[in-house]
Amino acid sequence: MKRFRKAVVVVTGGAGYIGSHVVAELIKAGEEIVVLDDLSAGSEENLFLGPEFIKGDFASPAIWKTILKYNKVKAVIHLAAKIDANESLLKPGLYYEHNTFKTIKLLEILKGERISKLVFASTAAVYGRQIILPISENAQLRPINPYGSSKLLAEQVIEYYCQYLGLNAVILRFFNAVGTTQEVMVHPQNPHGLLAQIKKAIQQNSIFKIFGDEYETKDGTCIRDLVHTVDLARAHVASLNYLKEFKGLATFNVGSGTGFTIKEILTVAQEVSQQNIEIKVAKPRAGEIPVSVADISVIGRVLKFELKYSDLKTILNSILL
Ligand code: NAD
Repeated sequence: MKRFRKAVVVVTGGAGYIGSHVVAELIKAGEEIVVLDDLSAGSEENLFLGPEFIKGDFASPAIWKTILKYNKVKAVIHLAAKIDANESLLKPGLYYEHNTFKTIKLLEILKGERISKLVFASTAAVYGRQIILPISENAQLRPINPYGSSKLLAEQVIEYYCQYLGLNAVILRFFNAVGTTQEVMVHPQNPHGLLAQIKKAIQQNSIFKIFGDEYETKDGTCIRDLVHTVDLARAHVASLNYLKEFKGLATFNVGSGTGFTIKEILTVAQEVSQQNIEIKVAKPRAGEIPVSVADISVIGRVLKFELKYSDLKTILNSILL
């Protein structure tokens, strides 16, 4: 007798920071989810809505055999990756292996199993330094670290599979993902991230270091585009819906479309927390990108996607949860 197999969406890296928000939004949208995560950075505790969970490497054919024995996979959201741009400068091999080669292995598995819908988590790091702002999807791609270039290579391979091998994919290039919700309550792991440092300065009265204040911006500090992680997660739901009909490859920026200087972000952080943040200006960091702001008109037009949570006050309130 044939076993009934559910139609599921597999989320690689679903137990991580962005993944846990994506899984929550997908479950709310009525999807059946299988999370595939090796827990190298994520945690099972992040899967509070109880999706099916498989611990393992997303590039392992044996793991996929297990998933496919019990499920029909209608689409894959591929978030699992190594994500620390600074670490990638010291360990480039690790980044090319995880973010490029393993993604190629995954594409081969999907091809072999005739799974033809993919949403791929890429990054604004593929753009590197840009002069024309905001940055549109067709800007010249020139990553400045192995993290960005390992993702760009993966994008290029995905493009080939879409052109010639029957894959249909949406590539989402995330800008700075920040924030959480009362319900999900998962914060990024990286303690050196901008928002983690702001939170620490507020909650532990530590000094906030601004790395360089002589950039060519209105107050000399870098400009960043912060997008609420729930909006990012909603963009994944919209991408899956788009893939119901769409054939080929579509690439979208996911940001807020608004840039704030580090000083402006600190001013609003002090306002929402009603606490003073002590600031020290330190030497600029090597490889810093002075200005990063997304052009989000394409995702708005094509996916009819609108931001709901990415105003600065909502984001900063949520990091203090
Ligand atoms: P994260 O480290 O919190 O999540 C990554 C998850 O992938 C973790 O749960 C980890 O255990 C899992 N993982 C790693 N290697 C794996 C493997 N080989 N097999 C199975 N699971 C594996 O990171 P995040 O911030 O949630 O990032 C998710 C994705 O979003 C990444 O692809 C990252 O490049 C992209 N991204 C993030 C940001 C951001 O601001 N956080 C910005 C741009 C792009």
